[in-house]
Amino acid sequence: MASIVAGQQINGFTFLAGSRTVTYPKPLPFMRIMLNTSDSYTQIIESTGEDISRPGLVDTPKRAAKAFEFLTRGYHETLAEVINDALFPSEFSEMVIVKDIELYSLCEHHLLPFIGKCHVAYIPNGKVLGLSKVARIVDMFARRLQIQETLVSQIANTIEEVTDAQGVAVIIEAKHMCMMMRGVEKQNSVMKTSSMLGSFRDNQATRSEFLSLINC
Ligand SMILES: [Zn+2]
Repeated sequence: MASIVAGQQINGFTFLAGSRTVTYPKPLPFMRIMLNTSDSYTQIIESTGEDISRPGLVDTPKRAAKAFEFLTRGYHETLAEVINDALFPSEFSEMVIVKDIELYSLCEHHLLPFIGKCHVAYIPNGKVLGLSKVARIVDMFARRLQIQETLVSQIANTIEEVTDAQGVAVIIEAKHMCMMMRGVEKQNSVMKTSSMLGSFRDNQATRSEFLSLINC
């Protein structure tokens, strides 16, 4: 495990705010991950008493490893790749909102999905971010093992650092399979988390405008 501080570069990834308190292991090379993960899935499936050699399951460990690699691909993305220079000078200083960004993540406690929507707003300060990049930043952090509380602040802090915005607001609403499929088995509870920075935190009117525009 490596302790990562803001600004540090690892595998070409510069960790910005939001990664400050998070410790990640160095990602393994792709082929090793696939082999290790596939072997691990074999053991997991065998632990149920299933016959791993039956036709329906024989390739499942490989497929599951590939799926897991996809679902955690955020560990292999770099912020530089995600932004790809799509940061543009602009005089625009009104609120920019990207609403209803689909969000798929895995809870770090149970490795079960949580699924929902993310709403992002910022007030530019001389720079605007390409629209699709907001969604890609959401994805970069969502495609890791997460809790919703950490995820919302990583997204907000990163957008603040990248754009130098006057304010950033992020809200996530999500349903957690670990609550729906196991444990308390509550099917209709939605968890909401928010992170308000700068003018969204300091100014009630700005915050209210954002909340009314996303109908939250
Ligand atoms: Zn969970």
